[in-house]
Amino acid sequence: METAHKLQLRFWGVRGSTPSPGKDTLVYGGNTPCVEIRTASNQILVFDGGSGIRELGRQLAAEFAGRDLPLNLFLTHFHWDHIQGIPYFQPLFSPATRIDVHSWTSMEDTRGVLEAQMQAPYFPVSLTYGSAKLSFAQMKSERLKIGDVSVESFPLNHPQGAYGYRIEAGGKSIVYATDLEHGDAQLDRVLRDYASGADVLIYDAQYNDEEYAAHRGWGHSTWHEATRVARDAGVGRLFLFHFDPAHTDARVAESERLAAAEFEPACAAREGSVIQL
Ligand SMILES: [Zn+2]
Ligand SMILES: [Zn+2]
Repeated sequence: METAHKLQLRFWGVRGSTPSPGKDTLVYGGNTPCVEIRTASNQILVFDGGSGIRELGRQLAAEFAGRDLPLNLFLTHFHWDHIQGIPYFQPLFSPATRIDVHSWTSMEDTRGVLEAQMQAPYFPVSLTYGSAKLSFAQMKSERLKIGDVSVESFPLNHPQGAYGYRIEAGGKSIVYATDLEHGDAQLDRVLRDYASGADVLIYDAQYNDEEYAAHRGWGHSTWHEATRVARDAGVGRLFLFHFDPAHTDARVAESERLAAAEFEPACAAREGSVIQL
């Protein structure tokens, strides 16, 4: 069924580093990164498999009960907060599911990483115990077309490497850029090129300026830099993302307020929120 919007974005996990449930994270959410993007023709693209993917899986299992569920899962990198929810992704255990997993690593290595976190003694069943059909594809520098949507990826400055994605359909665009540290002149330029004119930019805002000064080299950025990138690239809306696990809702709200003072269409991503373009 065709819908009026060209792209729909839903945040299932917006927290960085480790899940942080509790009374102080109820507003923005405590699950680690997972972002769902759907197109007008209901292509489902999932970005990262942090703990937020568990709830996405529950919803997809209910929505597609008894029907084929084709999915494309894009991984930014393999730090644990970006893959730890995959063993708990309910559609993995249904033969009606087909998951094409995309990353910049070779097909063998991507499969190996996902198998490793489900090996004894860490997990009771193996990746292949799940009856979903899995395939693995290595991203290339060319644009990847999947039905009515195209996906491009670009390198980010992060320990052991990470990749951002630009997703386009029907003239609308979303850029997902998490787990990156600003300050590498060449990669800062690449990011601005890929984010140029995007309707939505999702950006790593783990720290404020003081915290960043104490965490140089940890691979994360700030709400302040997020506003500079958003302005330089001329994006429509900015979503702060990958919040520090120690940041309470009050702290995230403060970053949101300060960011919006620098770049008006800035806000903090919230678990569960839906944006239609
Ligand atoms: Zn992360
Ligand atoms: Zn990382």
